[in-house]
Amino acid sequence: MKYFRLSEFTRSATAQHFGIENIPSEEAVKNLSHLVRNVLDPLRERWGSAIIVNSGFRCEALNKAVGGAKASYHRLGMAADIRPRNGRLAELYELVHVMFREGKLGLTECYLDGKKGYIHIAYDVTGFNTWPFIHN
Ligand SMILES: [Zn+2]
Repeated sequence: MKYFRLSEFTRSATAQHFGIENIPSEEAVKNLSHLVRNVLDPLRERWGSAIIVNSGFRCEALNKAVGGAKASYHRLGMAADIRPRNGRLAELYELVHVMFREGKLGLTECYLDGKKGYIHIAYDVTGFNTWPFIHN
């Protein structure tokens, strides 16, 4: 965890609004640290500019409150929705592709939600995909 803090992955305006205590299990914390070490830190390093975590870990109640998929990787601490502080979302998404093609990132899922303005990244060591990019 060079560029990120655990608190960035657990804070949530929705959780606050509904009084949900969004506390990750030990296992989820471990998964988050793997996601950061193997994907987010290297990406941030190469990007050279701040990356903001929109949503990271979601306990079951929070996942429901935000309408997340039942089997969402966010529930396991294996996913994060991120955006660059400088607003260059498509460029950051392109960099994820470049680093993936260079073999620098293992990924399970990745997609760009241009409307909501974030990139979803999931990292599950037991389920890497040869082409993780989902187009919707
Ligand atoms: Zn997501």
